[in-house]
Amino acid sequence: MRGNILNLLLTGMAAILAALPASSPAAQLPNLIIILADDLGYGDLGCYGHPSIRTPNLDRMAAEGMRFTDFYVGACVCTPSRAALLTGRLPIRSGMSGDLQHRVQSRKSPGGLPPEEITIAHALKEKGYATFCVGKWHLGHYRQNLPLCHGFDAFYGLRWSNDMEPARGIPKGASSSLNPNPEWWSCTLMRNNQPLEQPTDLSTLTRRYTEKAVRFIQQNREKPFFLYFAHTYPHIPLFASKAFQKTSPRGLYGDVVEELDWSVGRVLETLRQQKLDQQTFVFFTSDNGPWLIKELVGGCAGHLQGGKGSTWEGGMREPAIAWWPGRIKAGTVNRELACSMDLFNTCLALAGVPLPADRIIDGVDMTPMLLGQGPSQRNHVIYYNGDEVYALRKGAYKAHFTTYSGYGEDTPERHDPPLLFHLPNDPGERFNVAADHPEIIADLRQELEKHRAGLVPGKRQY
Ligand code: MG
Repeated sequence: MRGNILNLLLTGMAAILAALPASSPAAQLPNLIIILADDLGYGDLGCYGHPSIRTPNLDRMAAEGMRFTDFYVGACVCTPSRAALLTGRLPIRSGMSGDLQHRVQSRKSPGGLPPEEITIAHALKEKGYATFCVGKWHLGHYRQNLPLCHGFDAFYGLRWSNDMEPARGIPKGASSSLNPNPEWWSCTLMRNNQPLEQPTDLSTLTRRYTEKAVRFIQQNREKPFFLYFAHTYPHIPLFASKAFQKTSPRGLYGDVVEELDWSVGRVLETLRQQKLDQQTFVFFTSDNGPWLIKELVGGCAGHLQGGKGSTWEGGMREPAIAWWPGRIKAGTVNRELACSMDLFNTCLALAGVPLPADRIIDGVDMTPMLLGQGPSQRNHVIYYNGDEVYALRKGAYKAHFTTYSGYGEDTPERHDPPLLFHLPNDPGERFNVAADHPEIIADLRQELEKHRAGLVPGKRQY
């Protein structure tokens, strides 16, 4: 009798303890990590078919997680793409888009990401997330536009691209050189709002970023964190650390991408070591397509047409891998529409933060799709070049109203009727089927008009 009562008491206590919130990291909100490469092309990773760049860590990440075939970014160049990712909004709404003469923020730009914009980091502070921005920012270099004013506890990296601080007397075309000289560059490495090093040793940048990211994970294992790890490379000028120099069959570009791959491996390995892998959502992608005019120091868009600066698929469709052991089914290939702006909605949903109600958000929540609970909620993708819509995709079809090579001597070419491509059957956008599908063109035009009708452009920041 006494034994039965004791058993009942013990069972009851165990049930109460199980219902209490545990103090272990397992009871926390999920950690969120976004790793962003710069100018990496759709075809530059082993798991996307590159024949000579070796990316075992990203390939493993894809094998353990979800690899996207139709993942887009919010713009075809650095600044607006980053603004879109961090705010979930088309860059034209925040004023973070320009024209073909002013495509990204320059050192002369008068503004930056406006303080009233809400970034993922800013939104997550509501739930007590530790936040860290490591790497390239490129969303304004004035104090009120830097990461610390946008929800990040700390920043370690460059305010802009690595080709924006040349040293005096730099030879013409040096940034595109296959053998860039470190003395041609005088980049300033920042810690929070203060310069830390100038000229920065560009060859050790990926390694040092990675060390900072790893330490941040280790130091915050007991509370939820958001790590925005925005690599400087493979944007030119390219530099790799000693351990990777002259090691890749793909030359310098391969050395640099293979070091990025090593870095991703270090981040995932740290999560495993800290036993945080099952409670951390990691997403890898690039800000825009490869810079094709840079030839062998630029990347490759695989079977897609075009690259950085253009709204052909190669400019805005990116390699993308989601990883969350135990939550995202291993080895999934996702062929649905998704966009970097969706990371805003997804991160907020995972952290239980409601979306801002006072503004239009262009992202959609990817959580059901990531967890295998439902299809993509994304209806279409809009391809802006600067302040202007050049193309629109809905389902299988994409209409080009304007095309432009991205960089070079040509000017934008208008199309009326628009060019129309069936992307699953013609990913290289080679066969215009507009004449066969006037009803699809009418539908895509209507989608565009609907978008334009509700659009209020923000004050241009550059
Ligand atoms: Mg870029």
